[in-house]
Amino acid sequence: MNFKIHRGTKEIGGSCVEVWTENTKILLDFGMPLVEKGVLPNIEGLYDNSKNLIDGVIISHPHQDHYGLANFINDNVQYYLGEASHKIIKLNNLFTPQEIHLKNTNYFEKSKTFKIGDISIIPYWADHSAFDAYSFLVEANGKSLFYSGDFRSHGRKAKAFYWFTHNAPKNVDYLLLEGTTISRSNKPFKTETEIENELIEVFKQEEKINLIYTSGQNIDRLTSIYRACIRTGKIFVVDVYVAKVLKELSKYAGIPYPSENFGNIKVMFPFFTSRRLKNDGNEKVLYEFKKFKITKEEISNQSENIVMIVRPSMQKDLERINRIEGGNFIYSMWEGYLKKTATMKFVDYLTNRKFTLHKIHTSGHADTKTLKKMVEVIRPKNIVPIHTFEGDKYKDIFNEPVVELKDEEIREI
Ligand SMILES: [Zn+2]
Repeated sequence: MNFKIHRGTKEIGGSCVEVWTENTKILLDFGMPLVEKGVLPNIEGLYDNSKNLIDGVIISHPHQDHYGLANFINDNVQYYLGEASHKIIKLNNLFTPQEIHLKNTNYFEKSKTFKIGDISIIPYWADHSAFDAYSFLVEANGKSLFYSGDFRSHGRKAKAFYWFTHNAPKNVDYLLLEGTTISRSNKPFKTETEIENELIEVFKQEEKINLIYTSGQNIDRLTSIYRACIRTGKIFVVDVYVAKVLKELSKYAGIPYPSENFGNIKVMFPFFTSRRLKNDGNEKVLYEFKKFKITKEEISNQSENIVMIVRPSMQKDLERINRIEGGNFIYSMWEGYLKKTATMKFVDYLTNRKFTLHKIHTSGHADTKTLKKMVEVIRPKNIVPIHTFEGDKYKDIFNEPVVELKDEEIREI
């Protein structure tokens, strides 16, 4: 078995690993680079209609930096991914400018081995800020490689990592280990439960509306917000995009979504999202949530009871909501995004309306202790840094041999 990291040995995002034997060739992830856009890795049988088409592309989770270049892949290529991951990719087509249609999909299930040619793969369910995330054990000809994907152990699926520590494959030849947060502090990261408690402290302040900017697909975070709302008696207002994501994903997990069962969740219809859905002929999505609608006027009239998900494109809607000056604005994403122009403008807009900014967030990625735990349970013969800017620091953290590869460097196992 051989492998080659096309991208990811020295950057976060754009992950792409090719694994092959004499008979079979697969790809683990095909992500959009976050750093440098527009360069496609040179992979035979991936783009054109050659006879030797690649045998399969495996997607670890529905974050763009892991699947975002799929549009360039030949239509006849087979994809392997979680069913919920595919659902999320389709929702992104509905609500964002993205147009990625995976034609041939095969859904794998956690812990169930599947084969592509003579390569066998076991997906391990992972705790990550993406909803449906996996690590993979890849085996052929008695050799093995473990691809960590993106993971952590302080989210709402911490049990998945705990389970893994008792059921991990042992003595793999190569562990391709993500290191997104290496170089940040060595302290353990806050758990989602701690985030929930911090939110409660803010929501408890009287006479204030609470606006939260978070990813509409960070289901762990949305659940923390929902739980904090229940514990403080607030109405949780989501927009139609978040409503649709929660509803679709509720088929796969016991998460809250606008329905009779979750009476305190209301749905707002933002101007731009509604217009996009109408223009694209997807008005039916709007009708799905009519029953749970809350108007801007209703929000104005009881603003002190409201916790509402917002994002920069909703400024036009906020302008139509009165008497919310001096509320709380909770920024609940990676701090780096605060430098984006649209985000800065949005923060300025709310600061002008006398909002107080609170930053309440925890990482989607493993802290150093969790990375060490993964290494300890797998006991790999070699560790290869991936999805990191700090590959050179792995040697200081782990006792096992670290093999720092370059992008495109071939390794024979
Ligand atoms: Zn991710």
